[in-house]
Amino acid sequence: MKSVIYLDNAATTRVRPEVIEAMLPFYTGNFANPSSTYKVAQENRACIEECRKSIAATIKADAKEIYFTAGGSEADNWALKSAAEAYAMSDKPPLCNNKNTVFDNYGYTGRKCLKGHIITTNIEHHAILHTALYLEKMGCDVTYLNVDERGIVRLKDLKKAIRPDTFLISVMYANNEIGTIEPVKEIGEIALENNILFHTDAVQAYGHIPIDVNECNIDMLSASGHKLNGPKGTGFLYIREGVELGSFIHGGAQEMGKRAGTENVPGIVGLSKACGLAEVSMKERTIKELSLRDHLIDRILSEIPYARLNGDAKRRLPNNVNISFQFVEGEALLVMLDMEGICASAGSACTSGLSTPSHVLTAIGLPEEIARGSLRMTISEDNTFEELDHVVDVLKDKIFKLRSVSPEYEDYIRNR
Ligand SMILES: *Cc1c(COP(=O)(O)O)cnc(C)c1O
Repeated sequence: MKSVIYLDNAATTRVRPEVIEAMLPFYTGNFANPSSTYKVAQENRACIEECRKSIAATIKADAKEIYFTAGGSEADNWALKSAAEAYAMSDKPPLCNNKNTVFDNYGYTGRKCLKGHIITTNIEHHAILHTALYLEKMGCDVTYLNVDERGIVRLKDLKKAIRPDTFLISVMYANNEIGTIEPVKEIGEIALENNILFHTDAVQAYGHIPIDVNECNIDMLSASGHKLNGPKGTGFLYIREGVELGSFIHGGAQEMGKRAGTENVPGIVGLSKACGLAEVSMKERTIKELSLRDHLIDRILSEIPYARLNGDAKRRLPNNVNISFQFVEGEALLVMLDMEGICASAGSACTSGLSTPSHVLTAIGLPEEIARGSLRMTISEDNTFEELDHVVDVLKDKIFKLRSVSPEYEDYIRNR
């Protein structure tokens, strides 16, 4: 068995050797700036456009709808901020491809504040939540939908929240902590019926489950390279043709004039390679991950008392296991696992280290003392049954030890 058992693939993933191999020539061989005019530079330009095309195909989009970014957080920021700016400048959601809804940043009339209404959820990643908070400060109203006990958005709540000035719905495709997959197709229908822009943070879903932007009426979609065995600092925002958003980074004409900066050619090549590999391996990988995931869940729930699975058992990412252990401090358990060479997470990577329970576990209604005993293990196809069996054995031992020194557990057993 490996000396480290890595069960934190929702935080980041190993870069595949084929991905690195594809990237290397663009650092040392043809390193030309794709905006230059000579032949080798134009070869790089052509290579980027090939990558754009092949990534577009994985979500049934068109190449010109894919904009490369430096990751998921940037794509999320771009989608929300640019939609809010476009709405503030025009009074109309930037939805249709007619003259009245084409905006550029020079049409701005000088108002200082943003306006209008955004609907999102209270289980989004901080890249969405903190951007929404910022937009609230700038003048937008934001509704944060509550989710049910499985972490699923209630469609009737979504419909009820819609106002005449709602210009954007942003709901994640799948949650990064509990793995719950949202009813994206139904949300897309509601958005379309009401002429509202629909953005989805698909960072955890893309490359792991099939996505079709047309079937789901998705107008904007964020994805990140390092969550699917690609390089960190790479990603893309899909923007449906006809949705006219302004530039996110001002400068040169890269990314159709919307995201300036010399292209990260090796990064784009690596991202594209990772997306392609994820696509072709998805079916087989999912089968393998599901059997590993369900083996881990079944053994834990049947062998460790006072444990519960968080998130929906069925509508769930194939690699996500999130369990709350009663009478256990999640942070203490993590440290003990770490000493055994087991890498896992107490919540999202962004909240671990803080002692407040995760906003997602609170949102699905877990009382604080249960939420604090939560452990997220996100597997990959590289894990083995042997590794997972070892992890369960370690968990049983550590949880027994932690409970044996827990006054709450002692009280509970005494009063049972
Ligand atoms: C990781 C993650 C992000 C951020 O992506 P980066 O590429 O790390 O910026 C955004 N949303 C979700 C759901 C994530 O899991």
